[in-house]
Amino acid sequence: MPTPESILKSIFGYDTFKPLQREIITNVQARRDTLVVMPTGGGKSLTYQVPALLFDGLTVVVSPLIALMKDQVEQLNALGVPAVFLNSSLSQEEYQANMDSVKSGQSKLLYVAPETLLTPRIYSLLSALKLDLLAIDEAHCISEWGHDFRPEYRQLVDVRRKFPSAVCMALTATATPRVRADIAASLGFTQSNEFLASFNRENLFIEVAPKREPIAQTLRFLENFKDQSGIIYCFSRKQVDELAATLARHKYSVRPYHAGLEDSDRRRNQEAFIRDDAQIIVATIAFGMGINKPNVRFVIHFDLPKSIESYYQEIGRAGRDGLPAHCLLLYSYGDASKIRYFIDQKEEPERSASYQHLDAMTRYAEGNICRRKPLLSYFGETFAQENCGTCDNCNSEPADQQDITVAVQKLLSCVKRSGERFGAAHVVDILLGSKNEKIEKYRHHELSTYGIGRELTKSQWMHLSRQLVERGLLNQEPTYRVLSVTDKGLEMLKSREQILGQINEAKKSERASARIKSSLDSEYDRSLFALLRNRRKELADESGIPPYVVFSDKTLVEMAMYFPQGRESLLNISGVGKVKFERYGMPFLEIIKEYCRSNKIDEKFKAPAREKDDAGRRYMTVGDAYNSGESVQSLMKQYNVSADTILNHLARFIMAGNPLRSAEDLIALSNLDPDQQMAIFKAFDKHGSDMLKPVYDAMGGKVNYDELRILRLCYLCEKR
Ligand code: ADP
Ligand code: ZN
Repeated sequence: MPTPESILKSIFGYDTFKPLQREIITNVQARRDTLVVMPTGGGKSLTYQVPALLFDGLTVVVSPLIALMKDQVEQLNALGVPAVFLNSSLSQEEYQANMDSVKSGQSKLLYVAPETLLTPRIYSLLSALKLDLLAIDEAHCISEWGHDFRPEYRQLVDVRRKFPSAVCMALTATATPRVRADIAASLGFTQSNEFLASFNRENLFIEVAPKREPIAQTLRFLENFKDQSGIIYCFSRKQVDELAATLARHKYSVRPYHAGLEDSDRRRNQEAFIRDDAQIIVATIAFGMGINKPNVRFVIHFDLPKSIESYYQEIGRAGRDGLPAHCLLLYSYGDASKIRYFIDQKEEPERSASYQHLDAMTRYAEGNICRRKPLLSYFGETFAQENCGTCDNCNSEPADQQDITVAVQKLLSCVKRSGERFGAAHVVDILLGSKNEKIEKYRHHELSTYGIGRELTKSQWMHLSRQLVERGLLNQEPTYRVLSVTDKGLEMLKSREQILGQINEAKKSERASARIKSSLDSEYDRSLFALLRNRRKELADESGIPPYVVFSDKTLVEMAMYFPQGRESLLNISGVGKVKFERYGMPFLEIIKEYCRSNKIDEKFKAPAREKDDAGRRYMTVGDAYNSGESVQSLMKQYNVSADTILNHLARFIMAGNPLRSAEDLIALSNLDPDQQMAIFKAFDKHGSDMLKPVYDAMGGKVNYDELRILRLCYLCEKR
């Protein structure tokens, strides 16, 4: 009997499920309708593909994008899974052949566009078959509140009604509660089970750098990513063309992509990128929908994105394969003003909404706390870690704190004197004693604060003003970014107490790039990787598929890390299932063996996944998994350990200073009544929670240690 685990290993070649995948599959197997919300790269496809292989009947996958359907079917076929798609891109013959393969029961999965699914032809095809699972991909298209509403999606509820025995899944990477509720309501999910994964993408290094000499900065950045795929987003078509030409002059293999190009050119450029024929794509935001390329190693925002949501979506295209990827945003105050100028031309209410988006974006870019905090909080998630370790701010050395009292007083009084009607740039111009039209016009050269700040540079003053906004001494109104002095600021002015802060911005960007590069370098043999990559490209071109369909970068990286030289050890590599081994295993084994022979390298042992995470740090993995929504039961299963062990891990996790999601799931494990629980909490208050024995004694030995362990955890969880 195949199980989800055996299918994961033998077909997909993976050792462990990603967070929530196992729970979702269990839920679908139990034929409960399921809503899956996971970020890009979270592994949504597998959650319907595995059940599809476990059910006897057919699985229909609804997908709005022709390119994505083709990609998914290619990937499944490469794994030896019979799957086909039906859409308008097929010729008559191909269409009929695919219909036949579904009719004969040969295909396990059928991918269709929603409008195709609604045709009588498909209806009658499906009516003659056993339909077990209806999976609706990109399910946010059903909601008018989503960013990509498609009316055909609304009618999917009819399809559901026609096939009442099929379990239904809706999958999306759009996390807002409103869209979520809309999806469940439109599909008539009665006992809707929602699975909401964390939107934190741990493998993305997130960086914002001041945009000074953007071309030079980009070229410097690219030096660390020789031969690696990446996307560069620009604001305008013109900028796309210019930058693409510049990079081409510097001998990069690069293609432009924007709505001004001919359809055929656009398609060709996109295809070249997907097939690793072009390394870099320079694009407007028109690029990205329907791109499934997993090995995008960097995303550069050459200009400021228009909202946090689109920024998150765009950087989300990096590192789908789970390997480290780098996201760089080049930010300048001037870019923000440029966008503000465009927004000014818009009509209400769009204008106000755009201002708010821009304001959130500039706050994000100018902030100096962990980048993950504002990003995730935008999606309603709290990022509790102090230091994520993989953003620029968490990697910058704190700049020296200096006495900035006098400078603060100058800045605050200049804001006040000029009437609290101007943005930071103008206020700083006054302090610096600049001569310009605006100063003349408002007679600001007559203010007592005119020219009193020449000891600092413009960028130092700007940096200072951002700190004061962050500390709540200045208020910045979102639309025109007008500064005013807050009550707290006024008090500070009066009290004349000493203020510490930074005059200069923290130094960080170049070092951060170097860091991520070296972390990638040390782990695997680059020369072997390059050889494997070339072979992959040849094999892919022979069968006319993208290279990542043969093997992912992650799979090649593991090969270049462990040097597998036999069947068993190659099957042990992540992403090598039985069919892929048979199809592609030999050519890769030959290269590895030859390379190891001539370089005198031995095969390295790859520990089975379970033992891979260092046991000493297991409590961190367990704690993080629990916080991302895993239950104690699922963790027990995953690690094949008792509840006690999981509870002990969680206790260590808490004691190491990490907050735990909530005690609700934990208290449910206790068999005591609320009064008894209360008494035990009081005993912890009295005797402390480091040791259980004193509390055990205090309860007269009547409560067993298992209970005490559960309640200690709840106690610690609540106390923090
Ligand atoms: P999404 O649709 O959520 O963006 P995908 O389904 O495309 O994500 O999965 C992203 C990548 O992760 C794919 O390359 C996929 O093969 C891989 N993947 C999915 N599940 C696992 C797993 N359990 N272990 C390792 N890799 C996985
Ligand atoms: Zn961080």
